[in-house]
Amino acid sequence: MNMISRRRFLTLAGASAALAVNSTILRAQSATPASVIVVGGGFAGATVAKYLRLWGGNSVTVTLVDTNLAHVSCILSNLVLNGSYKLANITFDYTALGQKYGVKFVQGRVEGIGVAGNRRSVTLANGQTLYGDRIVLAPGIDFDPIPGLDPNKIPHAWVAGPQTTLLQQQIAAMPAGGTFVMTIPPAPYRCPPGPYERACLVADYLKRNKPGSKVVVLDANPSIVAEPHTFTTAFTQTYAGLLSYRPGVSIVSVDSNARSVQTNQGLFAANVLNVIPPHRAGRIVANAGLIPPGSRWASVNPLSYESTLMPGVHVIGDSQGTGQPKSGHIANAEAKVCADAILRAFAGEQPDPAPMTNSACYSPITATTASWLTAVFAYDAGSGTMKVVPDSFGEAATPTKDNFEDMFDWARNLFADTFA
Ligand SMILES: Cc1cc2nc3c(=O)[nH]c(=O)nc-3n(C[C@H](O)[C@H](O)[C@H](O)COP(=O)(O)OP(=O)(O)OC[C@H]3O[C@@H](n4cnc5c(N)ncnc54)[C@H](O)[C@@H]3O)c2cc1C
Repeated sequence: MNMISRRRFLTLAGASAALAVNSTILRAQSATPASVIVVGGGFAGATVAKYLRLWGGNSVTVTLVDTNLAHVSCILSNLVLNGSYKLANITFDYTALGQKYGVKFVQGRVEGIGVAGNRRSVTLANGQTLYGDRIVLAPGIDFDPIPGLDPNKIPHAWVAGPQTTLLQQQIAAMPAGGTFVMTIPPAPYRCPPGPYERACLVADYLKRNKPGSKVVVLDANPSIVAEPHTFTTAFTQTYAGLLSYRPGVSIVSVDSNARSVQTNQGLFAANVLNVIPPHRAGRIVANAGLIPPGSRWASVNPLSYESTLMPGVHVIGDSQGTGQPKSGHIANAEAKVCADAILRAFAGEQPDPAPMTNSACYSPITATTASWLTAVFAYDAGSGTMKVVPDSFGEAATPTKDNFEDMFDWARNLFADTFA
């Protein structure tokens, strides 16, 4: 594992902003603007909507569709579980995208997409149909069903919102000496360090508020997926005697009333059970037939994020299957590559042949310290894939208070670049 300095990390974290500056080409204004429909207003969708208008000006109209009037960020949402943050702090509506960039917002659930001649269409649950020259799908993730699992009783809290509130309430009501059991799905899943971060924050909260309690982490993966040094140290030293970690655990079924999970390693009963099911691309991506057989993610060209199965339809963020990590930071970077490629396509040009993206995740380890993980990816023309840039991959040497403070600056920048 290469360690990189904080200064270098902050330089890398600014790479997507640099991309924005380099790519700020206000396109020639045409008499008939091209049109793009964006489905999903999270980190990927809100960013592509904003940057299409920022870089494309009046040459393009952009309609953003989301089920909800505002997006609740998963980033920082684990801090809601220990009561140190409120969902209101991480909820973003689409007003700024409309007022500052002219993005049209439509609230509704998209149920299908179609092709009509040169145009594409999306159909909403209320029957409304919207037409565009291109469609960008950014619906995040969907979960595999698990026998017996009722998410209204056993929250995953892996899509922030009411699920986060429910899990926070269950943890707050847990008796001293109780047991918190959580499961981690097989990789790839949303935010590689996120589940381990959650285990640490819940352990920290229980240590301070519910003496004698235990945290049991049941990981479907053979070992810790991200920041192994940081989390091994946290599990075996910071939370020694409180937290136990088991790799290679697959779920058979859940008893949502008894709050227990049956696994290949036996039955685990809990006072609070947090099951995070295996992930796949958002349902609309599967419904549209954009996932190849045997895969869980959309097949796309990483130069443009255009589907390899349906021309004119792009997939970005957690739903895409380029092998890049599923993080909000890289979703924001992918969105800019996609926006640039779409505007070039409207101008009759090829996409940038050498795009770069970067990812960063900060992980609180206690209520006052955090670590971080980062990597930069570059297009490799030989393989046609995004590959990690040598020496760009690194994790914090140790969790610190400085990292904890930097985490909020980093998040504020990402939130502003996406929603403001
Ligand atoms: C606890 C936790 C901590 C995390 N921490 C970090 C971190 O530190 N750094 C980091 O970079 N990432 C982090 N992540 C990961 C990050 O949140 C995701 O990778 C990111 O949200 C993916 O963005 P997205 O736009 O693809 O999907 P989302 O952000 O999930 O957005 C999808 C949007 O699409 C909408 N939608 C879905 N289906 C439809 C439909 N059919 N019609 C209309 N709208 C629809 C949804 O309402 C939603 O608003 C974390 C995740 C979790 C769970």
